[in-house]
Amino acid sequence: METIVFATHNQNKLNEIKSILKERFNVVGLTEIGCTEEIPENGATIAENAAIRARFVYEKYNLNCFADDTGLEVDALNGEPGVFSARYAGEPTDSVKNMEKLLFKLKNNSNRKARFRTVIVYVENGISTFSEGVVEGNITESKKGEKGFGYDPIFKPDGYKVTFAEMGSEEKNKISHRAKATQFFLQFLDNK
Ligand code: IMP
Repeated sequence: METIVFATHNQNKLNEIKSILKERFNVVGLTEIGCTEEIPENGATIAENAAIRARFVYEKYNLNCFADDTGLEVDALNGEPGVFSARYAGEPTDSVKNMEKLLFKLKNNSNRKARFRTVIVYVENGISTFSEGVVEGNITESKKGEKGFGYDPIFKPDGYKVTFAEMGSEEKNKISHRAKATQFFLQFLDNK
């Protein structure tokens, strides 16, 4: 069975994609290939960051590899935090501080339109393919819900009365940015 690398150290993401692709690919994470170094994430966009990571692994280990990156884009803040979503309020990453900063910047602003965007970049034999998933929604006035992670408590997807953090993971995984990007990536793999 063909081996492909998922350029992540996140065991939850890795397990999820392993189980989706288990019939067709042996998916391995960075730890399994012995890649412990920090891969520089200095791209100007999430697509660039995912591409940098996937290409780094492809070139160093000569293995086909995919990487994902996600950002939250808020219209009233000209697309912020975007590529800086993980470290919006500084490092180390702190989701509560990130949400507080965002809510503060949007205080008294009635335009709360935002979207999550995930890009998956797959490098196979040196050629890069991009799969993108987007979910549109609004930033709430305050945090609601305990589930999920990151900005979930302040993001209400269009067509829903609850935030991502108030939904079960099963429901979120049907409509999320990451789920959509993954579906496009799977379609690409199926049509190869
Ligand atoms: P990553 O590219 O998956 O590491 O995501 C970058 C940052 O975006 C994370 O640190 C979170 O702050 C945020 N993020 C990514 N996916 C989600 C999500 O599904 N819900 C809420 N926040 C997310």
